Amino acid sequence: MIKIPFGKPIVSYSEFSAVLKVLKSGKYVHGKKTVEFENSFKKFTNSKYAVSISSCTAGMHLFYLALGLKKGDEVIVPAQTHVATAHAVEIVGAKPIFVDCELKTGNIDINKIEKKISKKTKAIVVVHFLGIPVDMIKINKIANKYNLSVLEDCALAVGSKIKDKHLGLYGDAGVFSFYPVKHITSAEGGMLITNNKKIFNKIKSKKAFGVDKSYNQRDYPGKYDVKDLGLNYRMSEVHAAIGLEQMKKVKNFLQIRKKNFNLMYKKLKNLKEIFILKNNDKSFISSNYCLSIIFKKRNIFKRTKVINFLNKNGLGTSIYYPKPVPLMSYYKKKYKYKVKDFKNASTISEQSIALPVGPHVSIKNLNFISKKVKESLRLLR
Ligand SMILES: *Cc1c(COP(=O)(O)O)cnc(C)c1O
Repeated sequence: MIKIPFGKPIVSYSEFSAVLKVLKSGKYVHGKKTVEFENSFKKFTNSKYAVSISSCTAGMHLFYLALGLKKGDEVIVPAQTHVATAHAVEIVGAKPIFVDCELKTGNIDINKIEKKISKKTKAIVVVHFLGIPVDMIKINKIANKYNLSVLEDCALAVGSKIKDKHLGLYGDAGVFSFYPVKHITSAEGGMLITNNKKIFNKIKSKKAFGVDKSYNQRDYPGKYDVKDLGLNYRMSEVHAAIGLEQMKKVKNFLQIRKKNFNLMYKKLKNLKEIFILKNNDKSFISSNYCLSIIFKKRNIFKRTKVINFLNKNGLGTSIYYPKPVPLMSYYKKKYKYKVKDFKNASTISEQSIALPVGPHVSIKNLNFISKKVKESLRLLR
């Protein structure tokens, strides 16, 4: 039985009570909670605009719809990421052009981007891998040179910054996820932030059927026009009520993650079989989603044994991500990609284990996890 899961949402009486209040009120959409959640997230990230959405995937889809991407267009996409980063491109008919990652951080290898840019390229999407910031200054330099839009997949980057600026604000937009085991949760949900008013207005309209007046802006109920194509990617008041309570705890959550990560890093960094994904630039602040250890030599047999040993000892683990996206069957079949095109991404997929550092992990838990990792490696020597 798993006693310390890889991830666990931290919700308590304040979330229960907030949800109950919304349920009792009868106002499930177009209410105050989504607005308050947006305002709170805006304040936290210091962004000009924030739009609540039903998921991070929905936000990325909306961004590409807002750009007007279509068949024949191309987007630079990191090979090592959640499949959603690529699916959002694919679903609007554009083609994801995958770029391998660097081994040190798991982030897109910026040096390999320019070679993949063509006349058809319209945008670059980056993912801040496990919360470790991509060098957005370099990304923006390339984007400016070729006149490309930039989207930041910030699903694991709540609290991640470069210098004092929150991630998501370096590109044209940043999209966050509130899936249960992310930094904060709204059960399901997401948020798009931007400093660009045009993008904000387009996203707002497209997330609600393309109507010209939002529910609360109408002269009288039922008076609106539809000037644009759109979907329903709204966040409900119930979800927003949970998210809003989580915003009161987010700073604390991030502090615990940081402390946990640093402590576990200290305990594991000298093990000769592994290295740990990390950025050492002091101005790059990670949100410490998890601590990912990578076996130095390819040995899938060993990794499986360590995972089984940890799981048997009640310790939850995960893998980020099980395959580079271009090698997932859908993309591999369609575009005929090969492992050798994505060496570093494959290394991370095949040789890594993600360990928990979330706020559900106590110092005592942390010592136990580190001890068991060391023990498992010793047993395999
Ligand atoms: C979780 C995650 C997503 C998907 O988020 P949803 O809110 O579930 O749509 C996208 N990208 C990354 C990097 C993620 O970790």
